[in-house]
Amino acid sequence: MSHPNYAVHCLDCGKVEPFRLTQTTCSQCGSNWREVHYDLARTKEIFQNSLSERPFNLWRYRELLPIGEYIPYLSMGEGGTPLIHANNLGMMLGCPTLFIKDERQGPTNSFKDRQAAIAIAAMKEAQITEAVLASTGNVAIAYSAYAARAGIKLWAFLTSLVPLEKMREVAIYGTKVVKVTGTYDEAKRLAAEFARQRNLHLERGACSIPSVESMKTLAFEIAEQLPRSLAMSNQAGSLPRWKAPDWYVQAVSGGIGPLGVLKGFTELYQMGLIDRIPRIACIQAEGCAPMVHAWKANKPVADPIQTPKTHIMTLSTGDPGRTYTLLRERMLTLSGGGAFESVSDEDAFRTIHILAKLEGLSTESAAAVAFAGTIKLFRQGVIKPNEIVVVNCTGHTMPVETLVLGDGWATDISTSRSEMETKPQEGLYGALSNLTPEKVRKIVIIDDTEDARRLLRRILQSQGDFVIREAASGITGIQMIKEDPPDVIILDLMMPEMDGFAVLNQLHEYPDLASIPVIVVTAKELTKDEQMLLKGKVKALMHKGKFMSDDLADEILEVIK
Ligand SMILES: *Cc1c(COP(=O)(O)O)cnc(C)c1O
Ligand SMILES: [Zn+2]
Repeated sequence: MSHPNYAVHCLDCGKVEPFRLTQTTCSQCGSNWREVHYDLARTKEIFQNSLSERPFNLWRYRELLPIGEYIPYLSMGEGGTPLIHANNLGMMLGCPTLFIKDERQGPTNSFKDRQAAIAIAAMKEAQITEAVLASTGNVAIAYSAYAARAGIKLWAFLTSLVPLEKMREVAIYGTKVVKVTGTYDEAKRLAAEFARQRNLHLERGACSIPSVESMKTLAFEIAEQLPRSLAMSNQAGSLPRWKAPDWYVQAVSGGIGPLGVLKGFTELYQMGLIDRIPRIACIQAEGCAPMVHAWKANKPVADPIQTPKTHIMTLSTGDPGRTYTLLRERMLTLSGGGAFESVSDEDAFRTIHILAKLEGLSTESAAAVAFAGTIKLFRQGVIKPNEIVVVNCTGHTMPVETLVLGDGWATDISTSRSEMETKPQEGLYGALSNLTPEKVRKIVIIDDTEDARRLLRRILQSQGDFVIREAASGITGIQMIKEDPPDVIILDLMMPEMDGFAVLNQLHEYPDLASIPVIVVTAKELTKDEQMLLKGKVKALMHKGKFMSDDLADEILEVIK
């Protein structure tokens, strides 16, 4: 089946031929590495004029997908996920233009929905009825759901390290699960051998044209959503219809996501719809970071990691093969750079808490890796606070909660009969009063910006049982402190009328108030003179946009010990 709008180009010999799913190699040189090129001039017309009439899901970009006909009964509303302003996290990092592409909101809770929807549609079109794949979990879940709708029988080779909850989800869709005791790379080899022996269609990852193409829809959606998101967060005046961010950040395993996203932005750029191609930041788990090692050593080929050492199975591709080489080459030539960085499992788990507590998003650890990497890149100065950053947030917490949450995450209230009988005066009321032990510490926050007060409050609430009062000015702050002296004061310096320095001076006129520890949190770079003014009067000085939630909590716990 050929199609006038696109053709397959061989990356090795340049041979151009029609796209057929069942033809997996170049007919001239036998290469596995080929990609689709489209008639972009014709597509530009459609993207500019007709898109707004179409529903907001990934099929609105069908002219740039290698699919002949849209098959309505396969669709479950894939794509079209929201782009969310990360107000609190952005503030913590000093970046007002940090956005989250919330891929958890797809039909099977990860961005593999896009891949599965397109790949299964392509299989249906090619009249394939049985297929094989290897997966670290999410690909198998997504493909299984779509294969069920398409009536395609699926074999999923999963390493035995894939969380059981995920394996069960794969099984419930009717997929045949084959557990492989070994690494993901070994599972991939077994799946390929099984497919060869049975002559079945194999999902070939970065060599599968529909799979790579599907990831472009992330780029298209982001570029369409960004102007409105920027306007809503008051970060821009009039904006074009399409806009690229400065950075796209994703947790990376095999690298199919960034490869496709980069191709998507490149096509938009070639059509003249965006004015630049964003830089891509690929974040890997420290115990399995072959791409990061190669990038930092400036090498075009990644040395495989034989035994990945990470709990985060989703990110356990030890051998990225040519995907890394292509990705690196394109990042350098198309975006003029980019970043590969790694984070530890512990950092990822800690970031799950930050994301959940500051932004209300619960994620699986693989997704948190992207955010931990984002935080790291801001801290290194690689990503700048004035840049527009979009982080792919994909996957739900379900399988890792026990590992991440630890014990003691809930307070048990017992209303059992025996207890009620022996201590009638206590019972439920007594149990409830345990929730507010005398240990609770009182904190006053004095800051004139509401956003900053809210962020500080969220950070404190996430770290302990504090009674928090807020004052929007120095004068109300002083009143509050006089009425009921707190254990700690968190003070902003730059405020109209009575600034932080004046608040400190006032406090020092009252001996019992002068001894309350003060933590100054400020956006201001202090001069030598100002530093002298603070000397002896404050316990700690923290810069807005530079502190992590844990640092502030540590500082406070230290102060009130
Ligand atoms: C697949 C997946 C990744 C890695 O994506 P690649 O683009 O294949 O490297 C990261 N996070 C989650 C949740 C995933 O499902
Ligand atoms: Zn070729």
